[in-house]
Amino acid sequence: MRLRNKPWAAEKLANHPDIVIANPTASKGKWKELIFKNENPIHIEVGTGKGQFVTGMAKANPTVNYIGIEVYKSVIVTALDKAILADVPNVKLLNVDAADLLTIFAPNELERVYLNFSDPWPKQRHAKRRLTYRSFLEMYNEITDEKGEVHFKTDNQHLFEFSLESFSAYNMLLKNISLDLHKSTFEGNIMTEYEEKFSSQGMRIYRCEAAFRN
Ligand code: SAM
Repeated sequence: MRLRNKPWAAEKLANHPDIVIANPTASKGKWKELIFKNENPIHIEVGTGKGQFVTGMAKANPTVNYIGIEVYKSVIVTALDKAILADVPNVKLLNVDAADLLTIFAPNELERVYLNFSDPWPKQRHAKRRLTYRSFLEMYNEITDEKGEVHFKTDNQHLFEFSLESFSAYNMLLKNISLDLHKSTFEGNIMTEYEEKFSSQGMRIYRCEAAFRN
């Protein structure tokens, strides 16, 4: 993704503490109690980008709490605009690196992890950076509950195949695998910004769900 320098982004994020949670480690183990103030399940999207998916899901599913996680301020600031526009209480944003998930969420605190169009890191020597690499699955497993699942979409066939192998090697149960999501019977798909771009160019979208068996 091409990043534009937005020196004003930090201040804008700080001005919306109701949506962008500034000190997320302080809520570890207490996200439902302190932040959402309800007992609804929490779903996170790692690498949320400009936020169309996470805000769209929050609008469509008011009884689920959503957290969008994005490492770049210049990108998450656009997700903030969408969350403000959506005007729903069940979407929060975190400007953090996914590598820090264990400092932010307690064991079993979440129900689901969404990964949408994650950076493919095509070089083998960068495989550990892929968000479906084993070390990330270990983290997702730790912070999700007994229903814990990863829902994954990508345009990248190599990343998809790598991820299916990684889920399988981690003994996850694979469900609803689609090699062409937009020609499948899957209902209720909320498109991400990347998904809109790639599918409008005629590219197929791969999708699967993987459940932890603990
Ligand atoms: N999910 C969005 C979509 O489908 O339109 C954005 C996809 S974009 C290719 C991947 C996003 O993940 C980028 O915005 C990037 O900054 C973010 N990202 C990559 N690695 C991350 C990490 N370790 N922690 C948080 N965000 C990350």
